[in-house]
Amino acid sequence: QELATFEPSFPSPWGGGGPGWDEAYVKARAFVRNLTLLEKVNLTTGTGNQADLCTGNTGSVPRIGFRSLCLQDGPVGVRYTDLNSVFPAGISAAATWSRSLLRRRGEAIGAEFAGKGVDIHLGPVVGPLGRDPAGGRNFEAFGPDPYLSGVAVAETIIGAQSAGVVASVKHYVLNEQEHFRGSISSNLDDKTMHELYLWPFADAVRAGVGSVMCSYNKINNTYGCENSYVLNKLLKNELGFQGFVVSDWGAQHSTIDSANAGLDMTMPGDGDYGGAYGSWWGGLLTENMLSQAISQWRLDDMVIRIMAAFYKVGRDTKQIDINYSSWTLETEGYRYWAAKTGNQIVNQHVDVQADHGALIREIGAKATVLFKNVGKALPLVKPESIAVIGEDAQDNPDGPNGCVDRICNNGTLAMGWGSATAEYPYLIAPATALEKQAEADGTVFTNVKGNFDLDAARAAASEASVAIVFANANSGEGYTTLDGNFGDRNNLTLWKGGDELIQAVAEVNPNTVVVIHSVGPVLIDHIKTNPNVSAILWAGLPGQESGNSLVDVLYGVVNPQGRTPFTWGKNASDWGVSILFNSSEATPQQDFAEGVFIDYRYFDREEIEPSFEFGFGLSYTNFTYENLVATLQEDQATYTPASGETPAAQMYGFLDMDKANAMPPEGFEKIPKFIYPYVNDPTPPPPIDIDPPTHNRSAQPILPAGGPSGGNPDLYKIWFVVTADITNSGDVAGTEIPQLYISHGAPTEPKVVLRGFDEVTLEPGETKTVAFNVAYRDLSNWDAEAQDWKLTEYPKTVYVGASSRDLRLQQELTLPS
Ligand code: BGC
Repeated sequence: QELATFEPSFPSPWGGGGPGWDEAYVKARAFVRNLTLLEKVNLTTGTGNQADLCTGNTGSVPRIGFRSLCLQDGPVGVRYTDLNSVFPAGISAAATWSRSLLRRRGEAIGAEFAGKGVDIHLGPVVGPLGRDPAGGRNFEAFGPDPYLSGVAVAETIIGAQSAGVVASVKHYVLNEQEHFRGSISSNLDDKTMHELYLWPFADAVRAGVGSVMCSYNKINNTYGCENSYVLNKLLKNELGFQGFVVSDWGAQHSTIDSANAGLDMTMPGDGDYGGAYGSWWGGLLTENMLSQAISQWRLDDMVIRIMAAFYKVGRDTKQIDINYSSWTLETEGYRYWAAKTGNQIVNQHVDVQADHGALIREIGAKATVLFKNVGKALPLVKPESIAVIGEDAQDNPDGPNGCVDRICNNGTLAMGWGSATAEYPYLIAPATALEKQAEADGTVFTNVKGNFDLDAARAAASEASVAIVFANANSGEGYTTLDGNFGDRNNLTLWKGGDELIQAVAEVNPNTVVVIHSVGPVLIDHIKTNPNVSAILWAGLPGQESGNSLVDVLYGVVNPQGRTPFTWGKNASDWGVSILFNSSEATPQQDFAEGVFIDYRYFDREEIEPSFEFGFGLSYTNFTYENLVATLQEDQATYTPASGETPAAQMYGFLDMDKANAMPPEGFEKIPKFIYPYVNDPTPPPPIDIDPPTHNRSAQPILPAGGPSGGNPDLYKIWFVVTADITNSGDVAGTEIPQLYISHGAPTEPKVVLRGFDEVTLEPGETKTVAFNVAYRDLSNWDAEAQDWKLTEYPKTVYVGASSRDLRLQQELTLPS
């Protein structure tokens, strides 16, 4: 069988500025022009695993006092330190469907990184997108819908970068499962790439993201970090990305190929390479510059891009010293951890939490999805007695940070495991918050802490006016296994006997409230249909304020506005895809044969009834929808394919090609294990054959869909403004999330796709008009032949409703002829 492949794309597009980047480019050019070969190489290369203070550090430029750049995990807060906050995970943030909360979350996260002295925040995540509900790292991202993900990632980036740190959106691209993540090939077609997996990255680029992290996996059989189709063509040419590409940790596998395919920085610098330099770059990059195997303009472009991102977010004025060490929480420790040298104060214990706890609590509450609420079981009003049941409501007996990288599932679940973790400053368990509320209300409170003593659970539940039973399902990053799950989940059922526990409680209490903390969907149809289960809440992965957020919802302080950002099927087979768990191939092949039909698009096409569909969630009130109006914006509704050429590549300063000058200076003392830009011997390099396309620095054609920072600006022109009236027809104030879906009309396309949403808070009886902007990109499909977004000949229909299956209003759109 022939392996999936793609057309290589060279040369690697050089950065040039553009909207939001021009000033940064002016500064970057001035900076880079004065650097030597070795200094340039040093900024592209990490100093080695655990070599310095941060998750990753670049080399520095001591001659001008430019310190090493600090790159730090992760998406829920500053990893590996103290006095930081733990925010709700991406999947929960997405469940709020709130642009303003996503923005504020981004700002707060950015501020915490900035306060620790970090230059580059390794987040947010939109890869995995979430093709498979069992994907181990789905929870880090914003769910499998590209539109919702795109909005969420853009808000997060704008927020984080406004605090003066560079965001690095990851993992680019198609790292959709953890099994074989370093060898699997994700194979897909150009249309699926554009309409699904690339889409949120386009929004990230448009939001001005400074950095993109390329992924471990292969795409159509070439590694992500040396893939000229995804890096050169899609990211840097079509999307016009002006920042820098950094490798995932150890995801680089070549020197010349990765450079020419568009990689700009390697992390952690050392890696799977066993050669004389201990790095694919560092001294080896210097060698390849001296032999001219790699062009000067390419190296200059790498460094220009890194420095442009630095200036774009204002690091030149906002940078403070790195005031912690990723490798110890102690005050004193090794400055150079891997080398075990340089004992000094490494942790100044800078408290960066500010008042973020309140925001975290609000997001956690507004992310909570109410799935079932029979007979107004919720909100609770001073119930006579409550029984809290299940380990997922409890403190971890070893403390919230009891296991490294949260590789355990003890006590309540509020984040997944892996690099997307941070140390909790505290974690409010649901039982703690509920007990406090019960005390205030004079409610009799009982707490059953384990999952397996079903008799105790039944006994407590049968005595209580409300039984609140908790269960969870976890997943994480596939560098380790938890309970037999290698990152990806082995199944979609609740962990630790959760299903049996819920069943037992519901057997004896007709007012059973089920709370689920999970990384994604679990199979809960038996819970949904159990008549004794009066309410179901999905509380996601809420972060440090877990219990407080939940109490706010259970007691009606916050009227639920969460809507599920993914589909809840009845059977694992309902999604039509599966994790590749076993393979003996050197490069396991994962064909994305379903194309764009993932999650609700697949359920809709196959007419599979889910337990709860994408976009669904209840409120304590009701909303009605009326008066859909779609107005063509005549002055905007045009699309012109981009044309013309880029400028030729520039070079900045001269490289000293005398190899003797690339040796370490006399008497230079290397820090053990550190990666340097120096060469090992002064013998001039032999002449080599160069590959002309990769060295071509002449002006290049602009692609039809191409343009600065996000692609052809016409893609984002507003063609229709769609309005609808939403009324709160119930008797309490509440927030509705009206959703706009589009049918692209063709029989081969999904029934509907999300293309807009809003967040509207209404008093009882109040009506507001919501307006959605529908852009050209929203209406079109990717035409692989034309290599552009095109309106197909099929009729387009717009829907506004309360979920992907509750499409209450609709209208056919009349496109300009
Ligand atoms: C993960 C990245 C992370 C990096 C540094 C990798 O294993 O895939 O998400 O940023 O490690 O910890």
